[in-house]
Formats: sequence, C-alpha cells, structure tokens
Amino acid sequence: MKDSVTADLHLHTTHSDGRLTPSDLLTLCHERGLETVAVTDHDTTSGLDECEVLAADKGLDFIPGIEFGAKAKRGEIHILGYFIDQFDPDLQEVLFDLQEDRKTRAERMVDRLCQTGTPVSWERISELASGGSVGRPHIAQALVEEGHASHPKEAFDRLINWKSPAYVARKLIQPKQAVDLINGSGGLAVLAHPLESRAKSGRREIFDLETTIASLVDFGIVGIEAYYGDYSDDQIDRVVALANKYGLVPCGGSDYHAAGNPIEPEPGEIGPPKESVVRLKELRVKS
Ligand code: AMP
Ligand code: ZN
Ligand code: FE
Ligand code: FE
Repeated sequence: MKDSVTADLHLHTTHSDGRLTPSDLLTLCHERGLETVAVTDHDTTSGLDECEVLAADKGLDFIPGIEFGAKAKRGEIHILGYFIDQFDPDLQEVLFDLQEDRKTRAERMVDRLCQTGTPVSWERISELASGGSVGRPHIAQALVEEGHASHPKEAFDRLINWKSPAYVARKLIQPKQAVDLINGSGGLAVLAHPLESRAKSGRREIFDLETTIASLVDFGIVGIEAYYGDYSDDQIDRVVALANKYGLVPCGGSDYHAAGNPIEPEPGEIGPPKESVVRLKELRVKS
C-alpha cells in the first residue's frame, strides 16, 4: 500500500459479489492502515448497517455507498453513490426490483446452463449469494464446484460471458435514474471506472467517454474514479485531467472483491488523496 493512501472508496462484501463479510473486510481495511472507507455493494444497501457499526468499533471513517449498473450507448456504465440514505423509499423500491430481476436472471441462466450440458443448481447459487445481490460470480463459483470449470475466470471465459449461449442480461436502469436516486437520497453520485482495466478482463473504456461525462455532469454527478483498481499512472493522470476539465472530484478505490485473482489490488493499494475526501464532505454539506 502506498503510504499516502488513507482512503478506499470502492469495496464489495458478501452482500453482493465480494468474498469477505463486512467484518472481515473492515478488519482488513483497518489492518492495512486505512482511515476512510466506502462500501459500495452492487444494487443493495443490506450490508451498510453492519458495516457502520463495525467501522465505528475500529475507528474507521465510514461512508455508506452503493454501485449501480446503468445503460450506456455500448454496454453499461457503473455509477457509485456515497453518503446515501439507505432508508429512502424511492431508492429501496428500485433496489427491490433489481434484486428480483437478479434472481429471475440467474434462474434463467441456470436453465440455459442445464440445457447445454453444464448443469448447476439454483439452490447452491442462491446459497452462495447468501441473501445478497446474486450475480454471475456466484454462478461461476457453482460451475467450479460442479467441475465444469477449474476456476471462476475460466467459467466466465468459457460459459457465462456476454457472448455465451447461457448469458442473460440483467436489468439496467438509466444513468439519469441512478443519479436521481442517489441525489434524492441525500447522496453524491460518482462515475465509476471510466477506463479499461487489466484485472477485470473484458472491461473496456466507456464508449464516447467525454460525451458520457458531459451528460452525467448535467444529471448531477460530482466525481469520477481516477485512482482506481489497477489503473496505470498515465490512466490516473488522464482521468484527473478530465475531472479538472469538468469540475469533478477525482475519486477512487481498489474495487476489492477478494476474488482470489493475484492481480486484484488489495484495499488501500490505490485510492484518492485526502483532499478528494474533504471535497466530497464539503459537497455533501452543501447538497
Ligand atoms: P453480473 O453483474 O452478474 O453480470 O456480474 C458481473 C461481475 O462479474 C463483475 O462485477 C465482476 O465482479 C465479475 N466478472 C465479470 N467478468 C469477469 C471475468 N472475466 N472473470 C471474473 N469475474 C468477472
Ligand atoms: Zn462486483
Ligand atoms: Fe463496477
Ligand atoms: Fe465495484
């Protein structure tokens, strides 16, 4: 971990597709010397209460977060919410819908996998998701357990990538809806991982990036991830320049999932400067 990194604003737990429980994740963050952490599970706030209590125990400055997938011209973009009020009814209504869609989608993928000679059980997948946001990482794990792949990445590459016959798309909301939901619950919206990543195979730069940023700024985002995952110094500089051009706070974090991938960055291996956290907190007070 770089000595200068004290904040990690992009972390996942077992409430979505992370492999560490809130307790194990926050213990790791504390051991790694982090001061400020945001937990940003996909399409759910179910882990936030527990994280808040655990973070307070360890003296960590905790930011309640979320990560939404949203429709893009090509594929999807991800939008992070910070300082959200998890009890906001509009937010919870949409999250309920997304959770239902994730279950139906995973069941349809299970049907297709069974029809194409790689049977997996929905019960096992549901168990692996342990009540959180079910997704392809849980399907990949079940495929490995059934001996259809030797590791999760192979399951993705051979059986459940977006070109595979078993693939079913999950529901995505519109970017404006994601930003409105976050802002409506008293939060701040930030564009996640705008560029290509080595550790996340298949993740490309957002198509038509500057047009996307400009429209998201109109919708009301306040930040963009620059200090992200495995981004190179050049990539970080490029996003920081975009942040400055559009008046956005350069944010970031490891996007840690404890995925067991040797090139996955650990919590705090990368993160925004303290100044970015200060700027977010100032914006929060104003909003
Ligand atoms: P889903 O949202 O259910 O379609 O699953 C997307 C998640 O799967 C991403 O957030 C990653 O955590 C994981 N993922 C996507 N592609 C791969 C891959 N090639 N290898 C391992 N994990 C992946
Ligand atoms: Zn994830
Ligand atoms: Fe993401
Ligand atoms: Fe993420």
